[in-house]
Amino acid sequence: MRFVDNTFIDLPDGWEDRAESATEALVDGTIVADDRSSVWKALKESLEELSNGRCWYCETNIPRTDNAVDHYRPKGKVQGVEFSEDEKTLARYNLNPEHSGYKWAAFKHENFRFSCQHCNEYRKDLQGTGGGKWNYFPLVNEPERAYDELDEDNEVPVLLDPCKRLEWRLLSYDKSGVPFSRFEKDSPEDIKVRLSIRLYHLDQKRLNEGRVGQWRLFKPLIDDAKKWYLKKLRQDQGADACFEKELRKVGMWFHPKSKNTYLGFLVYQLEQDKDKDTLHPWIGELIRTVG
Ligand SMILES: [Zn+2]
Repeated sequence: MRFVDNTFIDLPDGWEDRAESATEALVDGTIVADDRSSVWKALKESLEELSNGRCWYCETNIPRTDNAVDHYRPKGKVQGVEFSEDEKTLARYNLNPEHSGYKWAAFKHENFRFSCQHCNEYRKDLQGTGGGKWNYFPLVNEPERAYDELDEDNEVPVLLDPCKRLEWRLLSYDKSGVPFSRFEKDSPEDIKVRLSIRLYHLDQKRLNEGRVGQWRLFKPLIDDAKKWYLKKLRQDQGADACFEKELRKVGMWFHPKSKNTYLGFLVYQLEQDKDKDTLHPWIGELIRTVG
């Protein structure tokens, strides 16, 4: 996961009016959200463009599909979920009072996330436990659940949100690309990270391998930039220009239009660089610019 800036989205002519009337009808109970799915589907391409076709949750390149617009706050009945006592399986429970969905947010573009089916749809894995975001929307503190738009800001969602500038930085990864929580057991951050990994299935083998594969391709660029940086410090001829060229290549990887993926992992790897704070302070600067 990495930050996706959804501040500006291209809205088709008349879209806001259609969204507003759909919201009214949904809140009135004259329609169900899916009756007007054309409203969110109309933004699919605009959302897709913001990440160059990658899932905002797991960064996988998404094959063309009709169901790529996920509602961060569920549009339908919300199902309670938490870890079971064994800390591995998920326990589902009914919310009390029942929550029929975040109707006020069903047609709000700020609530849309471009997502692969693996991250947003319910499924059972081999252990028979439910995964996928589906209609789960756990909160750090369940009694703060919003049943009304005015109370929405009281909620602290558990699921990591790629549209929050800093939240993706809560994820840590081991050398095999497997995400984990670095936070104190059962602290709010720990619950957020562990449950997000589980519900988005961020520790899926394919993703772990993909992350490591990208790092293998990316690391030589960093090694070259390091080499030229040291030469530049020694004022070797041409070293300044060569360092800039290497840095440019690195920057291309992180450009929103780049084809490269699993950038959250690459940033995390850069942060672990042992020379970052001593020999190569430019790495810290680089991280600040790509975040
Ligand atoms: Zn995904």
